[in-house]
Amino acid sequence: MSQKEVDLFVIGGGSGGVRAGRIAAQHGAKVMMAEEYRMGGTCVIRGCVPKKLFVYAGRFAHDLEDMKGFGWQVGEAEFDWLTLIANKDKEIARLEGIYSRNAEAAGVEIVASRAVVTGPNTVRILSTGEEVKARYILVATGAHPALGPQIPGCELAITSNEAFNLTRFPNRILIQGAGYIAVEFAGLFRALGADVTLVYRGDKVLRGFDGEIRDHLETEMARAGIHMARGLTLSSIEAIPGGKRVTLSDGATVEVDEVMLAIGRVPNTRGLGLEGAGVALDEVGAVKVDAQGATGVPSIYAVGDVTNRVNLTPVAIREGHAFADTLFGNKPWTVDHSLIATAVFSEPEIGTVGLTEEAARADGRPVDIYKTTFRPLKATLSGRETRTFMKLVVDGETDRVLGCHIMGDAASEMIQLAAVALGLKATKADFDRTVAVHPTSAEELVTLR
Ligand code: FAD
Ligand code: NDP
Repeated sequence: MSQKEVDLFVIGGGSGGVRAGRIAAQHGAKVMMAEEYRMGGTCVIRGCVPKKLFVYAGRFAHDLEDMKGFGWQVGEAEFDWLTLIANKDKEIARLEGIYSRNAEAAGVEIVASRAVVTGPNTVRILSTGEEVKARYILVATGAHPALGPQIPGCELAITSNEAFNLTRFPNRILIQGAGYIAVEFAGLFRALGADVTLVYRGDKVLRGFDGEIRDHLETEMARAGIHMARGLTLSSIEAIPGGKRVTLSDGATVEVDEVMLAIGRVPNTRGLGLEGAGVALDEVGAVKVDAQGATGVPSIYAVGDVTNRVNLTPVAIREGHAFADTLFGNKPWTVDHSLIATAVFSEPEIGTVGLTEEAARADGRPVDIYKTTFRPLKATLSGRETRTFMKLVVDGETDRVLGCHIMGDAASEMIQLAAVALGLKATKADFDRTVAVHPTSAEELVTLR
């Protein structure tokens, strides 16, 4: 039997891989794609989508409390975790089908198997042992949760992967970490009624975010009743009747139903055969690429989380699209990694784009700060104790808005449009010239003095 030959072999059917494969096929390339788990990848199966569904679930609990101040009499409400899981699973399966069908409709041949690189132009499909010859190989294998140091009992901990499918709601949960995943799961489990302890080694959550946003989120998390254990790590975990006992680095113990590690993610390059083919990896195992996604090997490219640049779904999608247009569509372009807006679906949520105050000042330029903190209108009748915070970081010489940081309801929705303004190099005067939409929270952004 002769060896199969394709123009492009994509390893990984997630956000970046599917977009790249689909667009390359639409440009006329013969494309094969291997996915070892489920089509759609992290975002669809065990990331953004199920996470946001869980966040919505938690917010109904807030709504039930908030309604009373508006005159609603609410009877005894009950939450059923297994219904949420079952409905989430149905939706994920539907999306998975759409991902597969869209890729196949474009002409991509999908193989349900792990695949590894065996040379600059060859890939082995492990389920069949077949070796495929490829003009180009795209590595889009994503990342997996880091497990951290091997402390006694570490095998008793879960990660975000398992958190999406727990068969029992964790009434008491300890989460380690202070990044996106840790603060999001702390917020959603707390909103759903769990007793949550957040253990983190630093002095503040969300390293890299604007300092005041970090402070305000910590205040809100503590106000929501989350136990914030800063400056600590885990020493051991042991099974006890009905749960787990965690010993912290200061000797304190906490008894919980689940321990969840959310301490970063590791690029999926282990055993992939990349080094053998001459591809360079960095110290954490990420594929080293240039702006085009090119590795040092002319036939091998990489996009998305496996390159560990900006690990967000829309970024992986864009990188995949740019790769396919450049190599197969005769339309070369690269992804601009500056000014990428991002949201953290904490409680309350955060939206941010551009420079933090700290980064802007570190550049040595004069910086003007405009900020406000206020009680949102809805909270006046609901009685909810919560504050919204907004901040613009402005270049003191040019008046250009360098950064926008929001914590509060709908921050994720607002920041998308703020990103358009920053992308167009809007100045503070441009913001001020914009007539407010009233009554909203967003209007504060154009009335900051
Ligand atoms: P992935 O989507 O991870 O796809 C890689 C695929 O490759 C996987 O399906 C994997 O099974 C497959 N694979 C790996 N190795 C092989 C192999 N050897 N052979 C065959 N297949 C292989 N981003 C946002 O923008 N917004 C969010 O709200 C958000 N929330 C998140 C919440 C969580 C809990 C997590 C974990 C992530 C979240 N992210 C979010 C990040 C986002 O999911 C990733 O940035 C995105 O999925 C990266 O896409 P990718 O194509 O690089 O990798
Ligand atoms: P992050 O990189 O955001 O945060 C990792 C956290 O773990 C930090 O608090 C870090 O502490 C801590 N940490 C790292 N190593 C250790 C260790 N050995 N011991 C104790 N603590 C440790 O990773 P996440 O896992 O939260 O998320 C991964 C990525 O996925 C995000 O960066 C983001 O790109 C993406 N994502 C995006 C979301 C969104 O868009 N809403 C949601 C979820 C994920 P320190 O700060 O001290 O280094």
